Amino acid sequence: MTALPRDVYTLDDLRRWPEVVAGLAHPVRLAVFGDPVAHSRSPQLHEPALRACGIDSHYVRVHVRSGELAEALAACRAAGFIGVNLTIPHKQEVFPLLDEVDEHAKTLGAVNTVWFDTDRAVGFNTDGPGFVRAVRHAFGLDVRDLRVLVLGAGGGAGRGITVQCALENCQRFVLANRTREKAEALLPALGRLLDDNRVPGPMERLEVVDFTPEAIRPQIPRIDLVVNATSIGMQRTDPPALPREILAPHLVVYDTVYVGGRHTKLMAAAEEAGGSAANGLEMLLCQGALAFEIWFDREAPVEVMRRGLLGEG
Ligand code: NAP
Repeated sequence: MTALPRDVYTLDDLRRWPEVVAGLAHPVRLAVFGDPVAHSRSPQLHEPALRACGIDSHYVRVHVRSGELAEALAACRAAGFIGVNLTIPHKQEVFPLLDEVDEHAKTLGAVNTVWFDTDRAVGFNTDGPGFVRAVRHAFGLDVRDLRVLVLGAGGGAGRGITVQCALENCQRFVLANRTREKAEALLPALGRLLDDNRVPGPMERLEVVDFTPEAIRPQIPRIDLVVNATSIGMQRTDPPALPREILAPHLVVYDTVYVGGRHTKLMAAAEEAGGSAANGLEMLLCQGALAFEIWFDREAPVEVMRRGLLGEG
């Protein structure tokens, strides 16, 4: 009888891999590494995709702590893995462990997808492009046409989204972060990426503001897209990342939070104000589909992945 993969494996399991995975229906050739990792929904989207495409591999979660990454990657290569996804805390730590890093991932300063080619480990970033695709799917809009406010621009996801928006040459940027200096630290790199520093009119193209309603309110008329890249909303008791009173009907609000696939409080506030809103599931789906395309050099079965993610598989 064949067994199902466990919810989470560990580095110790990787050390004894053939024995640990004996009896599974398929060899394990893909994984997500993180600490924590038990919450990761990546297997929910990749497993159905692998089955739908007739690919002989499972995709599993492996709990890999900071400092364990080199050994975990080496063990996967030795075990014939195709690749891995990386989440907190490995997206930067992985750079010196790779033979090659794609230019886009270098610019974003983070790797979330590793592909084991015959003799090289190559790093990619699908989070940034996944965000762009998600906005297109959710709202039918291209971020390059938009003026963007990024809440939490100094965090890991916020930095990636902000740099991706600069690569897309968005119309205008307003960055807010609880620790303001972290958003300010992005300015030199963003300035270099943007074609020019101004759009017509009195407002700066690139601005950092305090993460307070008072500082954000005057920006709203000159913003189209609000992105919540903070952790506010991950706990059920959290308030909306921005109060309803400062939101407006012309705004589209992308909340990267996807815990439980719920309608977040920020989404509800944006819709009450007359605007439109989406949660982070689409970004999760799009970054996964792009990783699948890197590993298999074929189009990902996005609808199968979406149903898996929504538990409708
Ligand atoms: P992170 O690096 O720890 O960054 C957390 C960010 O949230 C920082 O900017 C932090 O500000 C801010 N923050 C935390 N608590 C706050 C509070 N009470 N008030 C104001 N700001 C606060 O985490 P991350 O990995 O970037 O994740 C951030 C969010 O992105 C999470 O909600 C996560 O679910 C989401 N995410 C979604 C996807 C997706 O595919 N949908 C992928 C990755 C991440 P300070 O700098 O001041 O600490």
